[in-house]
Amino acid sequence: MTQSILIDTSKCMGCRACQVACKQWNQLPADKTEFAGTYENPPRVSPVTWMRITFQEEETDKGVKWYFGNQRCMHCTDAACEIVCPVGAIYHSEEGTVNINFNKCIGCNYCAASCPFKVISFNRKTDLPTKCTFCYDRIASGYQPACSTACPTGAITFGERRDLINQASHRVMDLNDNGNSNAMLYGLDELSGTGMLYLLEDVPSHYNLPASPEVPLQARLWGMLFKPLRIFVVLAMALGLWTNYNKTREIKNAVKSQKSSEHTEHNG
Ligand code: SF4
Ligand code: SF4
Ligand code: SF4
Repeated sequence: MTQSILIDTSKCMGCRACQVACKQWNQLPADKTEFAGTYENPPRVSPVTWMRITFQEEETDKGVKWYFGNQRCMHCTDAACEIVCPVGAIYHSEEGTVNINFNKCIGCNYCAASCPFKVISFNRKTDLPTKCTFCYDRIASGYQPACSTACPTGAITFGERRDLINQASHRVMDLNDNGNSNAMLYGLDELSGTGMLYLLEDVPSHYNLPASPEVPLQARLWGMLFKPLRIFVVLAMALGLWTNYNKTREIKNAVKSQKSSEHTEHNG
């Protein structure tokens, strides 16, 4: 992985300009939601919301402390979604981003079910998975991701991974020296390194991140035992779908012919 995005949560003010920029660039409509007693909106990622700001508030001696998380695909090196995909539709680009090839995807939903961060959504209208693309279309043309260009506080930085780690490590040391012993860099070792790096001011759970994300065991087993046989798995799935389709057609035909004979009897 050569390039990454660093989110410095100590600089985020929860304005959601990044969330809106993601929608604008990717032409995603708004999610219709209802007020649920929190500023957090929408409540989860969806086919039309690929990233969102999470809000957590805590009463402290000095007043309310806000924790703003930035939930989206992490672009994991050890990516469960890629491991389980039976047709190899999910792959790592040369830059290390995790991409989906929609021409290969068969809509089985295994990727969404296996993601340890729960950041792939499944679009029931198109039968396709959706997630943050790392703005692959922009960075391939020399532009920054839309979310990082929109952030007014400089909390989102795109760049060379090595430089970002260097920058974040110094900032963590500063925070530690100033009495914040919980400050940490997240994404360095998690899942062998993630494309998203987070400078956290406190424990990961405050930012909607699992402390120790892992590829689920069943995903590993699936990858080891069944993936070498994936062509047979795909054929079996295709056969299942085809049989199902034929059965449905037979039932529909039977219902149609019964209706037409009832109609003839009635007229006779
Ligand atoms: S966060 Fe989930 S969807 Fe993104 S690369 Fe990792 S496993 Fe795949
Ligand atoms: S990198 Fe692009 S697709 Fe991903 S959250 Fe940012 S704007 Fe959205
Ligand atoms: S645009 Fe920047 S400050 Fe605003 S919510 Fe996003 S990361 Fe936070």
